[in-house]
Formats: sequence, structure tokens, C-alpha cells
Amino acid sequence: MHGLPIVAGPSPNRRLICAVVKNITPPAGRRVHTRVRMKGIEMTKFSELGLAAPVERAVSEEGYETPTPIQVRAIPPLLDGKDVVGIAQTGTGKTAAFVLPILTRLIEEKKQAPGLSCRCLILAPTRELAAQIGNSIAVYGRHTGLTHAVVFGGVKHGPQVRALARGLDILVATPGRLLDHVADRKARLDLTSLVVLDEADQMLDLGFMPALRKILHMVGKPRQTVMFSATMPPPIRALADDFLRDPVTVAVANQAKPIERIEQAVMYVGTAEKRQALIDLMAPEARKSTIIFTRTKRGADKVAKFLVEYGHKAAAIHGNKSQNQREKALEAFKSGEMRVLVATDIAARGLDIDGVQLVVNFELPNVPESYVHRIGRTARAGAEGRAVALVAPDERGLLQDIEKLTGLRIKGLNDAPPISGPTRPVQPQRGQGGQRRNGGGQGGGQRGQQNSAGGGQKRSGNRRRKPGGGQGGQRQSA
Ligand code: AMP
Repeated sequence: MHGLPIVAGPSPNRRLICAVVKNITPPAGRRVHTRVRMKGIEMTKFSELGLAAPVERAVSEEGYETPTPIQVRAIPPLLDGKDVVGIAQTGTGKTAAFVLPILTRLIEEKKQAPGLSCRCLILAPTRELAAQIGNSIAVYGRHTGLTHAVVFGGVKHGPQVRALARGLDILVATPGRLLDHVADRKARLDLTSLVVLDEADQMLDLGFMPALRKILHMVGKPRQTVMFSATMPPPIRALADDFLRDPVTVAVANQAKPIERIEQAVMYVGTAEKRQALIDLMAPEARKSTIIFTRTKRGADKVAKFLVEYGHKAAAIHGNKSQNQREKALEAFKSGEMRVLVATDIAARGLDIDGVQLVVNFELPNVPESYVHRIGRTARAGAEGRAVALVAPDERGLLQDIEKLTGLRIKGLNDAPPISGPTRPVQPQRGQGGQRRNGGGQGGGQRGQQNSAGGGQKRSGNRRRKPGGGQGGQRQSA
């Protein structure tokens, strides 16, 4: 592997709930995809999906017994070379849903990538997610002999340039750094025939839409394009319309519906009382593995500091932390040595950390979809989880947006007091998660503006944030 200890690959003891899948469409074409009935339920086994033997072997070594619903639905069309739009929440097994068929196709094609090029390009919004996908490729591809590398910003170009120079079977990249390499003529995309956009809606939120379009224009044709997104806002739909050919859409849940196993609640508090409310909430939950979300980097630092003063082992992760600090904090959190992680959206998005029992929204996100992503950090891999949001009077409008999006009324741990002032934060805070996507409501907050018709994206007042840090780049044998 490429030596990124911040991310965990799947481990043998992980199990997702049984994939109970109805209405499986057998793939057209050469692959035979059978269905078996077990106790009246249609089940699909990995061995029936048509994966290459070395890939199937790695999956079995991981201890996966049954493909998850998104895997059952996405793998057959991907193996058949079709474009796919996958709508799946985090924790549903979506990484394997695209990595397993990609490995299979690359083995079967028996081609070699010329220098500077990659046969398959996987784009991810953040360095953490990119590294995590790289880890999954290393795990699922360990018997394939295929090569891969991970490139992202904030680190030296040298190792990445060397990895790219020889040509790769799979390149996992964040958009900004990839374009830097292309501009420096250290990478070329015209020979790439398979592209995956993972967490496309997060790439939209981070302002990567122009970069994505540029990259997709550079990639060779014909190509197979795959897009995964937890939600489908109009600019993402437009991107799919513009760049995917007759895509098969596979969705495993209502796109806005949070994972049902999560017990959600809100606590109505004044802004000034939030810290005390957090301490009260954390007291009985103290032994639980908890992620606390704030809207800004500074906010994350402050909450972490405050929790430490109250005797909790806590640390913050966000875009201003060095890669080393982020890695250390994540490692301590994953190992259980540290129970509390305070994070902004960008830092925590897509992280695959098992065993998170509680998610606290110290502040509600401005974009309601982010709430779904945040709480999706818990109840992963079949586990139970709890999510509590601290809602100040000026966040009540944001709560309404979330309830509208999810179609759920979130239970209150206390009664909602009447409100007189604004129901949305009046002063938008700089930093992550500051964009608001769905409009609506008063407040003069800074709003992201989108141009869905042209598919381009314009955000007022938001700098483009490049994922930085990390040490991706070495060429790997998968
Ligand atoms: P993802 O949604 O890709 O982040 O995956 C969530 C977790 O599910 C990861 O820890 C995977 O290792 C695990 N996983 C993926 N597919 C399966 C499967 N078929 N059976 C059991 N666990 C799985």
C-alpha cells in the first residue's frame, strides 16, 4: 500500500446486513447472473456476479458473504461496460460496487497503460476519500497485479510525478491536483477509457464542477463513465446528462433518506448554551465513539479545546490541519484511544470509520444534504447509531430544510421554545459547509449560486478549496 495510515481498508470482521434484493435485473450480454432463492428471499452471491477469480478471492478473504444491494445492482451493468449513475448513501458498500467490476474489467482487457496515462481514473472530492479508495483498491486488488496510485494536493509533486510517469492501471485523484499534473504535462487523460466520479455531490459543494467538466472533456472516447452520489441536485443531474451515455441508474434508497438505523434527535438550545448542552449530552455518552460536526474550522478547534478542558480526549480535523495532525487524530480515534473527533464537513466526508456510535451536529449545516452525510458516519456496516443536533433558534429554518429533504420529523429531546428572531444564521461563517444549496429562507447568508442549465457552477464568495495535505503518489501494485 501507499503508506497512508489514516484510512482503514475493509477488515475481515466487517459485515453488512444481508443484501435482500428484489427485482434484480439480470445483465444483458455475455455475463450470466443467476439468482437463488433462500427462504423466499432472492439472494445473489458474489460468485454469481461474474467477477474475476482474483477479485472474488480477495472479497472472500475480506469475509464478505453477500453483496450489498448497491453491489448487486451496480456490478452487472459495470461489468457489461455500461455507464452507471449510482445513488447510494455512505456505508452501503458503494466503493466495492465500483472497484470490484473495474478490477475485473482491467484484468480481462489485458492492456498496459503507456507512460503518463492511466487506464481508469477515479475522482474523489477529498484527500481522505481518495486515500480510502486507494486502500480499497489495494485490498480488493491484491491478487490482480494491477497498479494504482493516489494523487492529491498539499504534498510534493515529485512522488506523484514518478508514479504517473510509468503509466498506471488505476489512478485515484482529487480534481485540482490532477489538473496541475496535466498542465505540467506529467499526466495525460486521452488514453483513459474508464472514469469514476465518486461523491459527485460533494465535488459540486466544493466547487469542483468546472474542473470535473474540464477533466471529462480531456478523457478519451469511447469511455465508460460511472458516477456515484448520495444525492442528485440539478447540476449533478446535468453533469450526468452531458457526459454519460444511456446510463443505468441504480439507487438503493430514497436519495435523501438517512439510514434508518440511526436514531435521530434534536435538542433545542440557545447559541450561548450549546457548550453546556454538549457537555451534558456527552456525559452519559462519554464512553461512546463520537464525531461532532461544526460549520467552521475555527468552530471545530474551539469545541475540541473546550471538550479537552472538560476532560474528554478530543481533537479536531479540518482543512487547516496538517496531514500529520489529521492522520494522528484519525488513528487515535480509530484505535479507540481517543473517543471524540470534532470535524468539519470536508474533513469527515466519506470517511469509513467503523464503530462511530454518536454523531453530534453542534451546528446544523447550511446545506441540508450535508446533514444526511454527517449522520451517515454512524450506523455503518450494519451497526446501530445515534445522531443528535443542537438547534439554536436561528437554525430552525435549517432544521425545517433537513426535515423537508429527508421527509422525517426529527424528535425533540425537549420542547421547542417559541422563536422571535431569524430562523437561519444571519452571519454566514467562512469555512467548510458554508454554502447553501437549496435556497429558501431569509437571513442574507451567502448563497451558492448554480448554473444547472450549462452545467457550470458559480458560487458567490466561495474560494475554491483544494483538498490538500497527505502523501499520496507512490505507484502501487494493487
Ligand atoms: P462504503 O459504503 O464503500 O464506504 O463501505 C462501507 C463498509 O462496508 C466498508 O467497511 C466495507 O468494507 C464494507 N463492505 C462493503 N461491501 C461489503 C459486503 N458485501 N459485505 C460486508 N461488508 C462490506
